[in-house]
Order: sequence, then C-alpha cells, then structure tokens
Amino acid sequence: MQLSDAEIREILIRRKREKKRRLRQRRRRTLIILLLLIVLIFVLVKVIGHGGKGSGKDKKSAGAAASGENRGIIFIDPGHGGMDSGSDDGNERYEKDDTLKLGLAVRDKLEALGFTVVMSRTEDELVDRTERGKMANKAGAQLFVSIHRNQSDSGGQGVEGFIPKEDDKNSRLLGENIMHFLGKAGFAERTIRAGTLGDPNDDYEENAATEMPSVLIEVGFLSSDDDNYRFDNNLDQNAKAIADAINYTFMLLHEPDAAAEYSKMMSQTDEACNTALTATGEALSGLNAIQSRAADGTIEGIDPEA
Ligand SMILES: [Zn+2]
Repeated sequence: MQLSDAEIREILIRRKREKKRRLRQRRRRTLIILLLLIVLIFVLVKVIGHGGKGSGKDKKSAGAAASGENRGIIFIDPGHGGMDSGSDDGNERYEKDDTLKLGLAVRDKLEALGFTVVMSRTEDELVDRTERGKMANKAGAQLFVSIHRNQSDSGGQGVEGFIPKEDDKNSRLLGENIMHFLGKAGFAERTIRAGTLGDPNDDYEENAATEMPSVLIEVGFLSSDDDNYRFDNNLDQNAKAIADAINYTFMLLHEPDAAAEYSKMMSQTDEACNTALTATGEALSGLNAIQSRAADGTIEGIDPEA
C-alpha cells in the first residue's frame, strides 16, 4: 500500500504526540512518587523524633509521674565554666557554653518528667571539678551526669563516656543508655570506658567523689563540623535523648514496672521506624526504576525530525 505524503506526515505527527503523551505521563508518575517519598520521609522523621523515647504523654501512660510529682533527684553538671572554658574549635566556640546550653535544656526535660534537678552551675561560672560530685552527694542525687564535648586533632566523631574506675554496672547502664539514645538522635556511638582515656585506674575529677551511678558524657566532638551541626541543629532532640535515657535508667533502677512498659513501647516504636524505613527504601527503588524509564523515554522522545 502506498501512503501519500500527507498520510505519512499525519502518522509521524500522531507518533510524536503519542511519545509526548507518554513522556508527560512518566513525568507525572515521577512527581507522584517524589511526593509520596517526601510524605514518607516526613512520617519517618516524625516517628523517630517523637517516638523511641516517648513523648511526655507516653511517659505518663508508662507509669511515670505527672509534673509536680517528685520521682527522684538527678544531678546535671554542665562541664567546665568561667575561666575553665574546656575545649574550643579554634574559632571562639567553647565547650563550657555548649555544655551549659545542653545542660539547661536537659534540666527542663527532666523536670517535665517529674524529676527534681540539681545543677552544678546554671551560668558561666567556675566550679571546682571534684566539688561537683560532692554537691551531688550532698543533694542526695540518685544519678549524676556530667555533660562535656570532646576534642581530637585526628578527626574523631560521636559520643563516648567515662564512668568511675570501679566500673559499677549501674554507672555503665546509665552511660550506655545515654550513648544509645544520643545514637538514635544521630550521633555516632563510640564507647563507655571506666576510668580516664589514658588510665582505667584513674578517675576524672567529676566521677571521683560521686556516691551514685555517674557518667561523664562527651556529646560529640567540638573539633568536628558534623558533630557541631548535630549539636546545634538538634539541640532539643539531643536534650530529650539525654533526659529520656536518664528517665529510662531511673525506671530500670527504681521503677521496674514502668521500665517494662517503657521497654515495650520503645520496641514498638523501633518496629514502626523499621517499617517506615523499609517503605522509604521501596519508594526509592520504585523512583529509580521510573526515573530510568523516564530517561529512556526522554531519549526516545527526542525526535530527529523535531
Ligand atoms: Zn570537658
């Protein structure tokens, strides 16, 4: 059959339209997948943000106290202060300021959970390091947490902690919990050591006098831009992670029923996180498939006559 020029043109135009239509369809699909992905990521962030460690409401349902009730006394020690500025980033950022900022935020979270919080300092002042442990003893604190930030010339990142050289299991529990909860908040998890960095048989001054479970926790490295970013942009979340870890440790030691319920809630949240992560992964691979098909379409769509 012989086609006329007009018919051939008609067929070519129709093909071109068809290709364009398919291309538009693919773009629409890609857009929908992208939107779905954004929603999923949003849900994921929400779940991770609130969940793991439970909101105030969850805590109440987990048997923890409403505000006004005194569940126990927690000692929070923002490291350094005054003329002892701690480490710095070489750019006028000082450890003593970071520890105070975070320490105050942790205090607020703990108070909202029904704890009485005693602090070694609430402003930029010098407090003797060994004295801080003694202050905690005098206050009858049940847990002691000294907040610090780390420094390294060789590029370290993440959270680590130091407990008294006796390596008692409750200090270790406290340290490990804080490190894990901060890990969920985005920091790398390093290790919890007994003693000091250089000597397992020595103590940092803060841990030397404490008569309750105690830990000196290094909340990321001041010498790491990434850790500083995590510290600054996630301050509330980090404070919540530390307060929740303290709360959980306190439950394990003093409120076993609440601890059991809390553990159950945490594992459910972890499950929800994993489900959301899997869904996001699937959406991503779906997106990749559609993108590569769209790419093919685009190549196909470039009509030599156009
Ligand atoms: Zn320090």
